[in-house]
Amino acid sequence: MTDVKKIAVIEGDGIGPEVVAEAIKVMRKTEEAYGLRFDFEYGLFGGIAIDEKGTPLPEDTLAMCQKADAVLLGAVGGPKWDSNPKELRPETGLLGIRKALGLFSNIRPALVFDCLKEASTLKPEVLEGTDLIVVRELTGGIYFGEKFRRDSAGGEEAVDTSTYNVQEVERIARQAFEIARTRRKKLASVDKANVLETSRLWRETVIRVSADYPDVELEHVLVDNCAMQLLRRPASFDVIVTENMFGDILSDEAAMLTGSIGMLSSASLGEGAFGLYEPVHGSAPDIAGLGVANPVATILSVALMYRLTFGYHEAAEAIERAVSEVLDAGYRTSDIAVDKSTALNTSAMGDLIVAAIR
Ligand code: NAD
Repeated sequence: MTDVKKIAVIEGDGIGPEVVAEAIKVMRKTEEAYGLRFDFEYGLFGGIAIDEKGTPLPEDTLAMCQKADAVLLGAVGGPKWDSNPKELRPETGLLGIRKALGLFSNIRPALVFDCLKEASTLKPEVLEGTDLIVVRELTGGIYFGEKFRRDSAGGEEAVDTSTYNVQEVERIARQAFEIARTRRKKLASVDKANVLETSRLWRETVIRVSADYPDVELEHVLVDNCAMQLLRRPASFDVIVTENMFGDILSDEAAMLTGSIGMLSSASLGEGAFGLYEPVHGSAPDIAGLGVANPVATILSVALMYRLTFGYHEAAEAIERAVSEVLDAGYRTSDIAVDKSTALNTSAMGDLIVAAIR
């Protein structure tokens, strides 16, 4: 019998509970269809946790996540908490949970569905076949380096430092090679090795690690060139691995290839198989409670969880195929509908995807 996997469920704020409910329906259907077993435990996090427990990340929620095999997160935040002091803001909880769970990489797929090619700002023929993943290092580099100001001959001067050590590069490189192995076995390592010392260490380390992955084809791409190539030949990329700041920028660029934020899934991973899975979008306060949010990003985050944490590749494929079939049949939520009057609500979209899973 399949062992029972423990899922920590954090619905969060705004549209979080609405989209998570649809993802859970999908997981229940795959239990039936693929013999999987999940045990769901719910915890408070974000704005709702501030209201009910006085902190964005209550200890019992963190303990629940630490005991789980994976975390499914909706979204947190909203105008109600925007003017709170830093320790009482939902985003502080997000940084806290990533740190406490040791999550050092962020994974963002950009998968272009054929029937939505027209929704992108790029030409459909350029997008044809685009299916890539950006693996971004999350805990090092210039965002976390020493920052200070000092006097200089030219007036006040600001300094940001970027550091990476071999261990930090090696663990993310291995993760990216492993992910490439489950896909088309192509890895593009993005750096600025012609200028930056951290990039030279990055490249040397990636090359050394590549010896353990002879089945994966490795290319090195300078970050400025990568920004261009993503627009010129997105379909030629499979897995892209890069440092924190380059990844921040390139993953947003890659996200726009797909056309809608309501379609984008993400994962944050640490050592081992454990991961936190969430849609890229936020809590969308403007549509919260209306039942019109697109649940696809959260549903595709479940497919990502099945692949990266559990190795349930068949069930993951079934989810992605179901999403694709429903879209091909012309069903849309209002964010991706051309004719808004025919748009489906959140639960109707979820039901159709559930029904299409075989
Ligand atoms: P947002 O992603 O919540 O919304 C941006 C726009 O996209 C809105 O018009 C919204 O209606 C639309 N949208 C987003 N998701 C959608 C979906 N599933 N279906 C249909 N339309 C969708 O970004 P924002 O407005 O900048 O932020 C709102 C709140 O969310 C803020 O408090 C922000 O801090 C928070 N936020 C949280 C996360 C997270 O939890 N990881 C990420 C980003 C933003």
